[in-house]
Amino acid sequence: MTDKKCPVLTTADGAPIGEQQAMTAGPRGPVLMQDVQLLEQMQHFNRERIPERVVHAKGSAAYGTFTVTSDITEYSKASIFGKVGKKTECFLRFSTVAGERGAADAERDVRGFAMKFYTEDGNWDLVGNNTPVFFIRDPFKFANFIHTQKRDPKTNVRDMDMQWDFWSLCPESLHQVTILFSDRGIPASYRHINGYGSHTYSLINEAGERVWCKFHFKTNQGIENIMDEEAASMIGSDRETHQRDLFESIERGEFPSWRVCVQIMTESQADSFAWNPFDLTKVWPHADYPLIEVGQLELNRNPENYHAEVEQAAFNPSALVPGISSSPDKMLQARLMSYADTHLYRVGVNYRELPVNKPRCPVMNYERDGSMATAENYQGQANYWPNSRENTPQTDTKFNDPAWSLGETIVDRFDSTVDHDDYTQVGNLYALFDDAHRDRLTTRIAGLLGQARQEVQMRQLCHFFRADEDYGKRIADKLGIDTDAVLGTTAAV
Ligand code: NDP
Repeated sequence: MTDKKCPVLTTADGAPIGEQQAMTAGPRGPVLMQDVQLLEQMQHFNRERIPERVVHAKGSAAYGTFTVTSDITEYSKASIFGKVGKKTECFLRFSTVAGERGAADAERDVRGFAMKFYTEDGNWDLVGNNTPVFFIRDPFKFANFIHTQKRDPKTNVRDMDMQWDFWSLCPESLHQVTILFSDRGIPASYRHINGYGSHTYSLINEAGERVWCKFHFKTNQGIENIMDEEAASMIGSDRETHQRDLFESIERGEFPSWRVCVQIMTESQADSFAWNPFDLTKVWPHADYPLIEVGQLELNRNPENYHAEVEQAAFNPSALVPGISSSPDKMLQARLMSYADTHLYRVGVNYRELPVNKPRCPVMNYERDGSMATAENYQGQANYWPNSRENTPQTDTKFNDPAWSLGETIVDRFDSTVDHDDYTQVGNLYALFDDAHRDRLTTRIAGLLGQARQEVQMRQLCHFFRADEDYGKRIADKLGIDTDAVLGTTAAV
């Protein structure tokens, strides 16, 4: 029975449902296979969970606004840093690191501080923590380290021996271990922590000049922590303290905010820095590299649906935009691959199509299909590159990062089509063929090439001529194309 004001219950395919009682042969059953409404409900229920994040499984998030308060365009051309007063929508997810999805919020742990900025030039994700450093500097240790934070394979409980065994064998962890066991190891709430990009990134300005950069988010609520006894009693009565605090404070209109700052290091300063400036276990001392204010980040809107927006949110350090780029930091380099990869597994190949992850600017590329592609799927547009079709997306070198110099080695996107002889060996092979073989070869090619556009035929004929004039001439004849016209084209290309 439905109240007339309520919408009618439907199946997932949209058909109205008359009654939600199992369809049975007689009042005592059995249930019939043809009760497809019941089957649909049970099947969907069995698939309600997606794999939880291996790390940072328990989290809370909100939408907000980043507002520029001072101009850093001398360092970065990123559109998000534009003019003072410019606003960009963002999404920030806080989390604990080690616990599973049901873990208590008030545990001693590092806190994740993952941000997605929906900029005009694409999504920029800054996937940080509430600490400026991390336990390790070599990505080979990452999966191993996380294992030590999870459960013992036999007892299925967290094990102090494996944690301290690992740390005692990895002295680079001492900085982060000290922060973890300091008073900041159990924050009073997510609103009362700082955030740090932690890795070194690079900023690139309009002139193509690069500086190294670290990002800092200083809480305007002040740092507040809780002591171990208080945390234990909190967890005893409420496991969701930080989720509740964040959600309720935003509902009340008490919007938490952070002062956003950068530290800047020039490439020549990096050469003489006392530590490796790309080592994730080290900070850049404030006295030498002072914080430069950039803006304010305010959280002001709760998600409407936790699963759709928070559980399926996907943050990747590889989501970079023109003006903000990576650095030689080994841990960052590994995360550039592994974060996107985990979402491909956890959410699916088209995870970027979900509203929380979807860029607010147009997306144009040649990635196609896969599970859960939307109906648009670029419609009939070309799905390969390079192409000579009309109105297809093409690259623009103005968006290239400047080259990196690593001593004598230059890191750049080298053009793989120049300085190569792609014709001589083809001509040598053609010279081996007898006349009948040449005839068969050119007949096969002409038969298929003749089905391409005239423009494509002419471009391809030029390549055959460059390899061997006879090769090109035979195909041109079979296509009915005037050889002189092609040779004219060859000279022009
Ligand atoms: P500064 O005196 O300029 O800065 C000290 C920093 O320590 C402040 O940012 C302060 O944060 C932070 N701090 C205080 N207590 C804790 C804690 N329990 N856990 C983590 N951070 C804390 O000195 P330096 O820049 O030379 O840095 C000295 C040490 O401070 C570093 O080795 C590092 O451990 C820590 N630190 C340094 C940061 C940096 O980027 N330079 C950033 C954060 C920590 P707040 O301002 O919020 O009180």
